[in-house]
Amino acid sequence: MRIPIIAGNWKMHNTTEEALKLVKELKSESGKTDVKIVICCPFTVLSEVSKEIKGSSIKLGAQNMHWEDQGAYTGEISADMLKEQGVEYVIIGHSERRQYFNETDETVNKKVKKALEKDLIPILCVGETLEERETEKTYEVVKAQTIKALDNVSEEKMKKIVIAYEPVWAIGTGKTASAEDANAVIAYIREVIKEKYSEEVSEIVPIQYGGSVKAVNAAEIMNQEDIDGALVGGASLKAEEFLAIVNF
Ligand code: PGA
Repeated sequence: MRIPIIAGNWKMHNTTEEALKLVKELKSESGKTDVKIVICCPFTVLSEVSKEIKGSSIKLGAQNMHWEDQGAYTGEISADMLKEQGVEYVIIGHSERRQYFNETDETVNKKVKKALEKDLIPILCVGETLEERETEKTYEVVKAQTIKALDNVSEEKMKKIVIAYEPVWAIGTGKTASAEDANAVIAYIREVIKEKYSEEVSEIVPIQYGGSVKAVNAAEIMNQEDIDGALVGGASLKAEEFLAIVNF
């Protein structure tokens, strides 16, 4: 039995004051025990949010990290730095990072391996662009991204990973994949994991859907058999909306 994970991806939003206000509201209402709640914050608020969520059921996530332990990498953040702040999850390979910050399948793979080595749970993002969908390359693209991101990741480590299927054209656009379509791609990713690892692992790995998930469509999406929760951007910035998704 996989437990759904609802993760908020705040992206480049929320100063400390705004973050604490939001987290206090989430904390007071998020008593649900049959889902895991993660909030992936900007680096600058991790420390304060970490203190605020202590003792609650909310887990802390980051949105990116570097694959090296330390060194001359101006502007970057290491896995140890995240762990020091109480981070347990880290989004890796989000399409915005692939698109605007030259993230490649190779760097995604390095980051996944480093996160696992440091006992952080990677939320590995894969998904096709609109052009790839329209030219019927969705399955091919998603398979290639998944396989490359998991290169040299052992079966044991694979049991710790979360995957998020996020069609790029559905992110922040108000368009979602239909629940059936999203479920079909996610079921396919599970097949890819089964081929590369084993049936056991493919049944364990939680695979979320992401892309314009809102309170109004959350239940339909997450009630699909293969979909294990959601990675939520815009709708994670308002407590009421995010809690409605958590309580789908
Ligand atoms: P969205 O973003 O919910 O605003 O579409 C999802 C994401 O990018 O993770």
